[in-house]
Amino acid sequence: MKKENWYTEPWTDECHFSIKYEEKLYEEQTPFQKIEFFKSNTFGTFFTLDGLMMVNEKDEFCYHDMISHVSMAVNPDIKKVLIIGGGDGGTAREISRYKTIEQIDMVEIDERVVRLSQKYLPLTANKLDNDSRINLYFEDGLAFVKNHEENYYDLILVDSTDPVGPGEGLFTFDFYNNCYRVLKEDGILINQHESPYFERDQREMKRSHSKIKQTFPIAKVYQFHQTTYPSGHWLFGFASKKYNPLTDHKPEVWEKFGLKTKYYNSDLHKAAFMLPTYVKDLLNNE
Ligand code: SAM
Repeated sequence: MKKENWYTEPWTDECHFSIKYEEKLYEEQTPFQKIEFFKSNTFGTFFTLDGLMMVNEKDEFCYHDMISHVSMAVNPDIKKVLIIGGGDGGTAREISRYKTIEQIDMVEIDERVVRLSQKYLPLTANKLDNDSRINLYFEDGLAFVKNHEENYYDLILVDSTDPVGPGEGLFTFDFYNNCYRVLKEDGILINQHESPYFERDQREMKRSHSKIKQTFPIAKVYQFHQTTYPSGHWLFGFASKKYNPLTDHKPEVWEKFGLKTKYYNSDLHKAAFMLPTYVKDLLNNE
């Protein structure tokens, strides 16, 4: 009988998520985190950081669609984009589909995540070394925005890990204030905003929303399905100095880009901001 191999992520102390895998492709401990790549039948190739699911071939489209397209349907004139994190390359791949975008700076603290994604996960990483608009910086995103000139980017996409380890600094007032400073007067910030379901994720969601709301005049939250993240119910934050993601939504302009998307669409854009009552209550009573 062939031995079965299972990857298990504790979503809480009493709720675990497991995926049967056929092969462990590679593992490496970097100065920042432990990187492990697996091959599975159900989710294809996937990788984890410090044991937590990051990206897999099967459901990456949900996350990378929803981090990339919402802002482009609000301000289709976005030209300069900053990605913080995003080492797997999926966010850079998706936002680079807009030929009107002129510059994509991607600041990833751990170069090994990029290099290993290019080797084992070309589905997400395939644009990183063949689009001249994409500039890779291997440094801390917090320091990058702190040292960057002000009033520069139209869009910042924070595709970070959870607020533990290297990702912790990306959920601070210092970081959000510097994002505000380096964004233009009509700038938009999209951030990985955790989840309303399990208590730990709820706590982080409330904390980051509270800080973003105190930093940006417009701070909204939208939801999407992400099967392999704890509870499958995940969120992004939409913050802006000028735009409201619903009243300034320009579906007819976005449709003209002619992009075929597998998760995002103009109807879903509106629906994603229609949150369950318990989530609205959590966000309003942080
Ligand atoms: N989609 C995944 C999620 O929601 O958890 C995250 C994708 S990507 C793998 C997250 C990346 O953030 C990692 O490659 C990690 O190295 C990077 N990261 C964490 N802290 C960072 C920091 N302070 N500056 C830049 N990149 C950071």
